[in-house]
Amino acid sequence: MIDLDKALELVERTAVTLSPRRQRLLDAVGQRLAAAVVSDVDSPPWDRAMMDGFAVRSCDLADRPAGPVELDVIVDLAAGDVTTLEISGGTCARIMTGAPLPPGADAVVPIESAIDGTATVHAGGRVRLQEPRFRPGQHVGRRAAAFRAGQEILPAGVVLTAAGVGLAAEAGATHVCAAARPRVAILSTGSELVSPEVVPAHGQTRNSNGPMLAAAVASLAAEPIPLGLAADRPEAIRAAVAQGLAADVLILSGGVSAGDLDLVPAIFAACGVEQVFHKVRLKPGKPVWFGRLDRGPGQSPTLVFGLPGNPASSLVCFELFVRPAVAILAGRPRDVWHLPRCRGVLTSPAKFAADRPIYLPCRIVRSGGQLDVTPLPWTGSSDLVGLAMADGLLSLPAGGPADAGCGVEVLLMERSGRTTPLTP
Ligand code: AMP
Ligand code: MG
Repeated sequence: MIDLDKALELVERTAVTLSPRRQRLLDAVGQRLAAAVVSDVDSPPWDRAMMDGFAVRSCDLADRPAGPVELDVIVDLAAGDVTTLEISGGTCARIMTGAPLPPGADAVVPIESAIDGTATVHAGGRVRLQEPRFRPGQHVGRRAAAFRAGQEILPAGVVLTAAGVGLAAEAGATHVCAAARPRVAILSTGSELVSPEVVPAHGQTRNSNGPMLAAAVASLAAEPIPLGLAADRPEAIRAAVAQGLAADVLILSGGVSAGDLDLVPAIFAACGVEQVFHKVRLKPGKPVWFGRLDRGPGQSPTLVFGLPGNPASSLVCFELFVRPAVAILAGRPRDVWHLPRCRGVLTSPAKFAADRPIYLPCRIVRSGGQLDVTPLPWTGSSDLVGLAMADGLLSLPAGGPADAGCGVEVLLMERSGRTTPLTP
Protein backbone atom coordinates (compact mmCIF):
# COMPACT_ATOMS: atom_id res chain seq x y z
CA MET A 1 0.00 0.00 0.00
CA ILE A 2 1.36 3.44 -0.92
CA ASP A 3 0.53 7.00 0.16
CA LEU A 4 -1.82 9.14 -1.89
CA ASP A 5 0.89 11.67 -2.80
CA LYS A 6 3.11 8.91 -4.12
CA ALA A 7 0.20 7.40 -6.08
CA LEU A 8 -0.64 10.75 -7.65
CA GLU A 9 2.99 11.29 -8.57
CA LEU A 10 3.01 7.89 -10.31
CA VAL A 11 -0.18 8.73 -12.24
CA GLU A 12 1.30 12.06 -13.33
CA ARG A 13 4.54 10.39 -14.37
CA THR A 14 2.82 7.62 -16.35
CA ALA A 15 0.31 9.74 -18.26
CA VAL A 16 1.64 11.18 -21.56
CA THR A 17 -0.17 13.83 -23.58
CA LEU A 18 -1.80 12.33 -26.68
CA SER A 19 -0.84 13.57 -30.12
CA PRO A 20 -3.38 15.96 -31.65
CA ARG A 21 -6.11 14.30 -33.71
CA ARG A 22 -8.20 15.24 -36.67
CA GLN A 23 -11.73 15.35 -35.33
CA ARG A 24 -15.21 16.44 -36.22
CA LEU A 25 -15.81 20.09 -35.54
CA LEU A 26 -18.30 19.53 -32.72
CA ASP A 27 -16.07 16.97 -31.01
CA ALA A 28 -13.30 19.55 -30.78
CA VAL A 29 -15.25 22.24 -28.90
CA GLY A 30 -13.19 23.36 -25.91
CA GLN A 31 -10.02 21.82 -27.34
CA ARG A 32 -6.92 23.73 -28.44
CA LEU A 33 -6.38 23.73 -32.20
CA ALA A 34 -3.14 22.06 -33.26
CA ALA A 35 -3.29 23.39 -36.82
CA ALA A 36 -4.75 26.55 -38.29
CA VAL A 37 -8.12 26.44 -40.03
CA VAL A 38 -7.89 27.81 -43.58
CA SER A 39 -10.93 29.07 -45.46
CA ASP A 40 -11.88 27.78 -48.91
CA VAL A 41 -14.09 30.82 -49.58
CA ASP A 42 -14.10 34.61 -49.32
CA SER A 43 -16.35 36.11 -46.65
CA PRO A 44 -18.65 37.63 -47.68
CA PRO A 45 -18.33 35.49 -50.82
CA TRP A 46 -19.74 38.28 -53.02
CA ASP A 47 -21.01 41.85 -52.51
CA ARG A 48 -24.05 41.21 -50.33
CA ALA A 49 -27.13 43.23 -49.37
CA MET A 50 -27.07 43.90 -45.62
CA MET A 51 -30.60 45.41 -45.47
CA ASP A 52 -33.96 44.71 -47.09
CA GLY A 53 -34.46 47.47 -49.68
CA PHE A 54 -33.43 48.48 -53.16
CA ALA A 55 -30.09 47.84 -54.83
CA VAL A 56 -29.06 51.02 -56.62
CA ARG A 57 -26.16 52.69 -58.43
CA SER A 58 -24.63 55.14 -55.96
CA CYS A 59 -24.30 57.78 -58.65
CA ASP A 60 -28.07 57.87 -59.13
CA LEU A 61 -28.57 58.99 -55.52
CA ALA A 62 -25.33 60.82 -54.79
CA ASP A 63 -26.08 63.20 -57.67
CA ARG A 64 -29.43 64.21 -56.13
CA PRO A 65 -28.87 64.55 -52.38
CA ALA A 66 -32.18 66.35 -51.75
CA GLY A 67 -34.14 63.66 -53.58
CA PRO A 68 -36.51 62.05 -53.94
CA VAL A 69 -35.16 59.78 -56.68
CA GLU A 70 -37.51 57.73 -58.82
CA LEU A 71 -36.21 54.41 -60.17
CA ASP A 72 -37.63 51.53 -62.24
CA VAL A 73 -37.53 48.22 -60.35
CA ILE A 74 -36.29 45.64 -62.90
CA VAL A 75 -35.90 42.51 -60.78
CA ASP A 76 -36.81 41.06 -57.36
CA LEU A 77 -33.99 39.34 -55.46
CA ALA A 78 -34.51 37.29 -52.29
CA ALA A 79 -31.59 35.68 -50.41
CA GLY A 80 -30.38 32.86 -52.66
CA ASP A 81 -31.55 34.52 -55.90
CA VAL A 82 -29.00 35.61 -58.48
CA THR A 83 -29.40 37.57 -61.71
CA THR A 84 -27.38 38.58 -64.73
CA LEU A 85 -29.60 41.62 -65.31
CA GLU A 86 -27.54 44.79 -65.04
CA ILE A 87 -28.67 47.81 -63.03
CA SER A 88 -28.18 50.75 -65.37
CA GLY A 89 -28.99 54.43 -64.91
CA GLY A 90 -32.49 55.03 -63.55
CA THR A 91 -33.12 51.43 -62.51
CA CYS A 92 -32.78 49.36 -59.35
CA ALA A 93 -33.55 45.90 -57.95
CA ARG A 94 -35.80 45.05 -55.05
CA ILE A 95 -33.43 43.10 -52.81
CA MET A 96 -33.61 41.23 -49.50
CA THR A 97 -30.83 40.87 -46.91
CA GLY A 98 -28.31 38.22 -47.90
CA ALA A 99 -28.84 38.37 -51.67
CA PRO A 100 -25.87 39.11 -53.96
CA LEU A 101 -25.93 42.61 -55.41
CA PRO A 102 -26.86 42.52 -59.10
CA PRO A 103 -24.28 43.71 -61.65
CA GLY A 104 -24.06 47.51 -61.77
CA ALA A 105 -25.50 48.10 -58.28
CA ASP A 106 -23.17 49.17 -55.47
CA ALA A 107 -25.41 50.35 -52.62
CA VAL A 108 -28.69 49.47 -50.89
CA VAL A 109 -31.38 51.93 -49.88
CA PRO A 110 -33.43 50.47 -47.02
CA ILE A 111 -37.09 49.73 -47.62
CA GLU A 112 -37.97 52.32 -44.93
CA SER A 113 -36.65 55.07 -47.25
CA ALA A 114 -39.24 54.33 -49.96
CA ILE A 115 -41.91 57.05 -49.91
CA ASP A 116 -45.40 57.70 -51.26
CA GLY A 117 -46.53 54.11 -50.62
CA THR A 118 -43.86 52.65 -52.95
CA ALA A 119 -42.17 50.41 -50.32
CA THR A 120 -44.12 47.40 -51.61
CA VAL A 121 -43.22 47.92 -55.26
CA HIS A 122 -41.83 44.86 -57.11
CA ALA A 123 -40.27 44.29 -60.53
CA GLY A 124 -42.16 46.26 -63.19
CA GLY A 125 -43.05 49.10 -60.80
CA ARG A 126 -41.44 52.42 -59.92
CA VAL A 127 -40.05 53.23 -56.46
CA ARG A 128 -39.51 56.72 -54.97
CA LEU A 129 -36.53 56.86 -52.62
CA GLN A 130 -35.80 59.66 -50.15
CA GLU A 131 -32.38 59.12 -48.53
CA PRO A 132 -30.93 62.49 -47.45
CA ARG A 133 -27.87 60.96 -45.75
CA PHE A 134 -27.06 58.56 -48.59
CA ARG A 135 -23.47 57.24 -48.58
CA PRO A 136 -22.05 55.59 -51.69
CA GLY A 137 -21.62 51.86 -51.01
CA GLN A 138 -23.98 51.87 -48.03
CA HIS A 139 -25.47 48.66 -46.60
CA VAL A 140 -23.30 46.43 -48.75
CA GLY A 141 -21.15 43.68 -47.22
CA ARG A 142 -18.13 43.84 -49.51
CA ARG A 143 -16.72 40.62 -50.91
CA ALA A 144 -13.83 39.33 -48.73
CA ALA A 145 -14.22 42.19 -46.22
CA ALA A 146 -13.93 39.66 -43.34
CA PHE A 147 -11.47 37.15 -44.86
CA ARG A 148 -10.23 35.70 -48.13
CA ALA A 149 -10.06 32.17 -49.51
CA GLY A 150 -6.73 30.65 -48.44
CA GLN A 151 -6.54 32.80 -45.31
CA GLU A 152 -5.92 31.29 -41.82
CA ILE A 153 -9.08 32.23 -39.98
CA LEU A 154 -8.38 30.35 -36.73
CA PRO A 155 -4.71 30.08 -35.81
CA ALA A 156 -3.15 27.04 -34.15
CA GLY A 157 -3.24 27.39 -30.36
CA VAL A 158 -6.70 28.92 -29.92
CA VAL A 159 -9.39 27.03 -28.03
CA LEU A 160 -12.35 26.18 -30.24
CA THR A 161 -15.48 28.01 -29.02
CA ALA A 162 -19.02 28.18 -30.37
CA ALA A 163 -18.08 31.24 -32.43
CA GLY A 164 -15.03 29.35 -33.70
CA VAL A 165 -17.26 26.46 -34.74
CA GLY A 166 -19.48 28.88 -36.68
CA LEU A 167 -16.46 30.47 -38.36
CA ALA A 168 -14.91 27.10 -39.24
CA ALA A 169 -18.26 25.93 -40.62
CA GLU A 170 -18.46 29.05 -42.81
CA ALA A 171 -14.92 28.38 -43.98
CA GLY A 172 -15.83 24.84 -45.03
CA ALA A 173 -13.92 23.04 -42.25
CA THR A 174 -15.97 20.01 -41.17
CA HIS A 175 -12.96 18.62 -39.29
CA VAL A 176 -10.11 20.26 -37.40
CA CYS A 177 -6.81 19.07 -35.97
CA ALA A 178 -7.03 19.66 -32.24
CA ALA A 179 -5.76 18.37 -28.91
CA ALA A 180 -7.03 14.83 -28.54
CA ARG A 181 -10.17 14.17 -26.56
CA PRO A 182 -9.14 11.08 -24.61
CA ARG A 183 -11.25 7.98 -25.33
CA VAL A 184 -12.14 6.37 -22.03
CA ALA A 185 -13.58 2.84 -21.98
CA ILE A 186 -15.72 1.99 -18.94
CA LEU A 187 -16.34 -1.57 -17.81
CA SER A 188 -18.36 -2.66 -14.77
CA THR A 189 -17.55 -6.11 -13.40
CA GLY A 190 -19.62 -8.21 -11.03
CA SER A 191 -21.96 -11.19 -11.52
CA GLU A 192 -24.47 -9.50 -9.20
CA LEU A 193 -24.87 -6.45 -11.46
CA VAL A 194 -27.94 -5.65 -13.54
CA SER A 195 -28.76 -2.65 -15.75
CA PRO A 196 -30.46 0.32 -14.11
CA GLU A 197 -33.76 -0.35 -15.93
CA VAL A 198 -34.06 -3.78 -14.29
CA VAL A 199 -35.74 -4.15 -10.90
CA PRO A 200 -33.04 -6.05 -9.02
CA ALA A 201 -33.93 -9.50 -7.66
CA HIS A 202 -32.70 -10.48 -4.21
CA GLY A 203 -28.92 -10.50 -4.36
CA GLN A 204 -28.70 -8.32 -7.46
CA THR A 205 -27.32 -4.78 -7.56
CA ARG A 206 -27.98 -2.12 -10.15
CA ASN A 207 -24.94 -0.96 -12.08
CA SER A 208 -24.57 2.61 -10.87
CA ASN A 209 -20.84 2.88 -11.56
CA GLY A 210 -21.17 2.51 -15.34
CA PRO A 211 -23.40 5.55 -15.91
CA MET A 212 -21.71 7.50 -13.10
CA LEU A 213 -18.22 7.05 -14.52
CA ALA A 214 -19.46 7.83 -18.04
CA ALA A 215 -20.92 11.09 -16.71
CA ALA A 216 -17.68 11.88 -14.89
CA VAL A 217 -15.67 11.24 -18.08
CA ALA A 218 -18.02 13.41 -20.14
CA SER A 219 -17.68 16.22 -17.59
CA LEU A 220 -13.94 16.28 -18.38
CA ALA A 221 -14.70 16.79 -22.10
CA ALA A 222 -13.34 13.30 -22.77
CA GLU A 223 -15.19 10.62 -24.74
CA PRO A 224 -16.81 7.86 -22.67
CA ILE A 225 -16.98 4.44 -24.34
CA PRO A 226 -19.37 2.32 -22.24
CA LEU A 227 -18.48 -1.38 -22.38
CA GLY A 228 -21.39 -2.47 -20.17
CA LEU A 229 -21.22 -5.33 -17.72
CA ALA A 230 -18.94 -8.36 -17.35
CA ALA A 231 -19.74 -11.20 -14.95
CA ASP A 232 -17.05 -12.45 -12.55
CA ARG A 233 -15.73 -15.04 -15.01
CA PRO A 234 -12.16 -14.72 -16.28
CA GLU A 235 -13.12 -15.21 -19.96
CA ALA A 236 -15.89 -12.59 -19.76
CA ILE A 237 -13.68 -10.00 -18.09
CA ARG A 238 -10.69 -10.78 -20.31
CA ALA A 239 -12.70 -10.30 -23.51
CA ALA A 240 -14.07 -6.95 -22.33
CA VAL A 241 -10.67 -5.78 -21.05
CA ALA A 242 -9.08 -6.63 -24.41
CA GLN A 243 -11.68 -4.44 -26.09
CA GLY A 244 -11.17 -1.63 -23.57
CA LEU A 245 -7.40 -1.63 -24.04
CA ALA A 246 -7.88 -0.17 -27.51
CA ALA A 247 -8.98 3.08 -25.83
CA ASP A 248 -6.61 5.69 -24.34
CA VAL A 249 -7.86 4.89 -20.84
CA LEU A 250 -9.67 1.84 -19.49
CA ILE A 251 -11.62 2.28 -16.27
CA LEU A 252 -12.88 -0.92 -14.78
CA SER A 253 -14.86 -1.10 -11.56
CA GLY A 254 -15.15 -4.00 -9.15
CA GLY A 255 -13.01 -7.05 -8.61
CA VAL A 256 -9.84 -5.33 -7.45
CA SER A 257 -9.97 -5.93 -3.71
CA ALA A 258 -9.01 -9.23 -2.05
CA GLY A 259 -12.25 -11.25 -2.32
CA ASP A 260 -12.57 -14.71 -3.89
CA LEU A 261 -13.81 -13.29 -7.17
CA ASP A 262 -11.46 -10.35 -7.37
CA LEU A 263 -9.94 -11.58 -10.59
CA VAL A 264 -9.05 -8.30 -12.18
CA PRO A 265 -5.36 -7.80 -11.31
CA ALA A 266 -4.48 -11.25 -12.70
CA ILE A 267 -6.42 -10.55 -15.89
CA PHE A 268 -4.67 -7.22 -16.37
CA ALA A 269 -1.34 -9.04 -16.01
CA ALA A 270 -2.42 -11.70 -18.54
CA CYS A 271 -3.32 -8.90 -21.00
CA GLY A 272 0.18 -7.43 -20.71
CA VAL A 273 -0.82 -4.47 -18.54
CA GLU A 274 2.06 -3.53 -16.28
CA GLN A 275 1.02 -2.72 -12.70
CA VAL A 276 2.16 0.69 -11.45
CA PHE A 277 0.44 0.48 -8.06
CA HIS A 278 -2.23 -1.47 -6.21
CA LYS A 279 -3.79 -0.17 -2.98
CA VAL A 280 -3.45 3.37 -1.69
CA ARG A 281 -3.63 4.59 1.93
CA LEU A 282 -7.01 6.25 1.46
CA LYS A 283 -10.67 5.93 2.55
CA PRO A 284 -12.79 5.25 0.60
CA GLY A 285 -10.85 3.75 -2.31
CA LYS A 286 -8.06 1.69 -0.76
CA PRO A 287 -8.15 -1.20 -3.32
CA VAL A 288 -7.55 1.09 -6.35
CA TRP A 289 -5.30 -0.44 -9.03
CA PHE A 290 -3.35 1.44 -11.69
CA GLY A 291 -1.27 0.22 -14.61
CA ARG A 292 -0.16 0.91 -18.16
CA LEU A 293 -0.05 -0.92 -21.47
CA ASP A 294 2.60 0.10 -23.98
CA ARG A 295 1.24 0.94 -27.42
CA GLY A 296 4.59 1.16 -29.18
CA PRO A 297 7.19 3.86 -29.81
CA GLY A 298 5.96 7.44 -29.90
CA GLN A 299 2.56 6.38 -28.58
CA SER A 300 1.13 7.32 -25.23
CA PRO A 301 0.47 4.10 -23.19
CA THR A 302 -3.09 3.01 -22.47
CA LEU A 303 -3.74 3.86 -18.84
CA VAL A 304 -5.70 1.29 -16.88
CA PHE A 305 -7.57 1.99 -13.66
CA GLY A 306 -9.18 -0.72 -11.56
CA LEU A 307 -11.57 1.14 -9.26
CA PRO A 308 -13.26 -0.41 -6.24
CA GLY A 309 -16.81 -1.59 -6.91
CA ASN A 310 -18.48 0.39 -4.17
CA PRO A 311 -19.84 3.47 -5.92
CA ALA A 312 -18.62 6.16 -3.49
CA SER A 313 -15.14 4.61 -3.56
CA SER A 314 -15.24 4.50 -7.34
CA LEU A 315 -16.16 8.16 -7.63
CA VAL A 316 -13.59 9.36 -5.09
CA CYS A 317 -10.90 7.37 -6.94
CA PHE A 318 -12.09 8.81 -10.24
CA GLU A 319 -11.78 12.36 -8.89
CA LEU A 320 -8.37 11.75 -7.34
CA PHE A 321 -6.66 9.55 -9.96
CA VAL A 322 -8.55 9.42 -13.26
CA ARG A 323 -9.22 13.17 -13.46
CA PRO A 324 -5.53 14.19 -13.60
CA ALA A 325 -4.71 11.34 -15.99
CA VAL A 326 -7.37 12.47 -18.46
CA ALA A 327 -6.28 16.11 -18.12
CA ILE A 328 -2.66 15.20 -18.90
CA LEU A 329 -3.66 13.05 -21.89
CA ALA A 330 -5.75 15.94 -23.18
CA GLY A 331 -2.78 18.32 -22.84
CA ARG A 332 -4.45 20.60 -20.29
CA PRO A 333 -2.32 22.95 -18.15
CA ARG A 334 -1.04 21.63 -14.81
CA ASP A 335 -3.19 24.02 -12.75
CA VAL A 336 -6.39 22.24 -13.89
CA TRP A 337 -5.21 18.64 -13.51
CA HIS A 338 -6.68 18.19 -10.03
CA LEU A 339 -9.79 19.33 -8.19
CA PRO A 340 -9.05 22.77 -6.70
CA ARG A 341 -7.96 22.64 -3.03
CA CYS A 342 -9.05 25.28 -0.49
CA ARG A 343 -9.02 25.81 3.24
CA GLY A 344 -12.30 26.07 5.13
CA VAL A 345 -13.74 25.89 8.65
CA LEU A 346 -15.92 23.02 9.94
CA THR A 347 -19.39 24.12 11.04
CA SER A 348 -20.14 20.76 12.68
CA PRO A 349 -17.92 17.91 13.80
CA ALA A 350 -16.64 15.40 11.24
CA LYS A 351 -17.16 12.20 13.19
CA PHE A 352 -15.30 9.80 10.95
CA ALA A 353 -12.01 8.45 12.15
CA ALA A 354 -9.75 6.22 10.08
CA ASP A 355 -6.27 4.80 10.01
CA ARG A 356 -5.78 6.47 6.62
CA PRO A 357 -6.60 9.86 5.09
CA ILE A 358 -10.33 10.12 4.48
CA TYR A 359 -12.45 12.01 1.95
CA LEU A 360 -16.00 12.84 2.99
CA PRO A 361 -18.83 14.52 1.06
CA CYS A 362 -19.44 18.05 2.32
CA ARG A 363 -21.38 21.25 1.67
CA ILE A 364 -19.24 24.33 1.19
CA VAL A 365 -20.68 27.82 1.58
CA ARG A 366 -18.78 31.07 1.23
CA SER A 367 -19.42 33.13 4.34
CA GLY A 368 -17.66 36.47 4.52
CA GLY A 369 -13.98 35.83 3.94
CA GLN A 370 -14.07 32.11 4.70
CA LEU A 371 -15.53 28.85 3.45
CA ASP A 372 -17.91 27.12 5.86
CA VAL A 373 -17.61 23.36 5.50
CA THR A 374 -20.42 21.06 6.66
CA PRO A 375 -19.92 17.29 6.46
CA LEU A 376 -22.92 15.55 4.84
CA PRO A 377 -24.40 12.33 6.25
CA TRP A 378 -22.48 9.36 4.89
CA THR A 379 -22.93 5.70 5.74
CA GLY A 380 -19.88 4.37 3.91
CA SER A 381 -18.38 3.46 0.58
CA SER A 382 -21.59 2.21 -1.05
CA ASP A 383 -23.51 5.41 -0.20
CA LEU A 384 -23.84 7.99 -2.99
CA VAL A 385 -26.52 10.14 -1.31
CA GLY A 386 -24.10 12.59 0.29
CA LEU A 387 -21.86 12.72 -2.78
CA ALA A 388 -24.81 13.55 -5.01
CA MET A 389 -25.47 16.66 -2.88
CA ALA A 390 -21.85 17.55 -2.20
CA ASP A 391 -19.97 20.69 -3.21
CA GLY A 392 -16.71 19.00 -2.44
CA LEU A 393 -14.70 16.45 -0.53
CA LEU A 394 -13.57 17.17 3.00
CA SER A 395 -10.03 15.88 3.29
CA LEU A 396 -9.07 14.72 6.79
CA PRO A 397 -5.73 13.22 7.72
CA ALA A 398 -5.54 9.79 9.38
CA GLY A 399 -6.53 9.95 13.02
CA GLY A 400 -9.43 11.01 15.16
CA PRO A 401 -12.56 13.00 14.35
CA ALA A 402 -12.38 16.76 13.77
CA ASP A 403 -14.36 19.27 15.88
CA ALA A 404 -16.51 22.18 14.76
CA GLY A 405 -14.36 25.27 14.27
CA CYS A 406 -11.34 23.28 13.00
CA GLY A 407 -9.56 24.51 9.90
CA VAL A 408 -9.81 21.82 7.20
CA GLU A 409 -8.81 21.19 3.62
CA VAL A 410 -11.50 20.67 0.97
CA LEU A 411 -11.45 19.64 -2.68
CA LEU A 412 -14.03 21.59 -4.67
CA MET A 413 -16.23 19.57 -7.02
CA GLU A 414 -18.21 21.04 -9.88
CA ARG A 415 -21.91 21.28 -9.26
CA SER A 416 -23.90 22.91 -12.03
CA GLY A 417 -26.61 25.23 -10.79
CA ARG A 418 -24.37 26.74 -8.13
CA THR A 419 -25.36 30.37 -7.84
CA THR A 420 -22.30 31.81 -6.11
CA PRO A 421 -18.81 30.78 -7.07
CA LEU A 422 -16.82 29.29 -4.21
CA THR A 423 -13.50 30.48 -5.52
CA PRO A 424 -13.02 34.17 -6.16
P1 AMP B 1 -16.09 -5.38 -5.50
O1 AMP B 1 -15.16 -4.23 -5.57
O2 AMP B 1 -16.27 -6.09 -6.78
O3 AMP B 1 -15.69 -6.31 -4.39
O4 AMP B 1 -17.51 -4.79 -5.11
C1 AMP B 1 -17.72 -4.12 -3.89
C2 AMP B 1 -19.18 -3.74 -3.74
O5 AMP B 1 -19.50 -2.84 -4.76
C3 AMP B 1 -20.14 -4.90 -3.87
O6 AMP B 1 -21.19 -4.69 -2.97
C4 AMP B 1 -20.63 -4.78 -5.29
O7 AMP B 1 -21.91 -5.34 -5.48
C5 AMP B 1 -20.66 -3.30 -5.47
N1 AMP B 1 -20.50 -2.94 -6.88
C6 AMP B 1 -19.57 -3.43 -7.71
N2 AMP B 1 -19.70 -2.91 -8.94
C7 AMP B 1 -20.76 -2.07 -8.87
C8 AMP B 1 -21.41 -1.25 -9.83
N3 AMP B 1 -20.96 -1.18 -11.08
N4 AMP B 1 -22.46 -0.51 -9.41
C9 AMP B 1 -22.90 -0.58 -8.15
N5 AMP B 1 -22.31 -1.34 -7.21
C10 AMP B 1 -21.27 -2.09 -7.56
MG1 MG C 1 -17.23 -7.71 -7.49
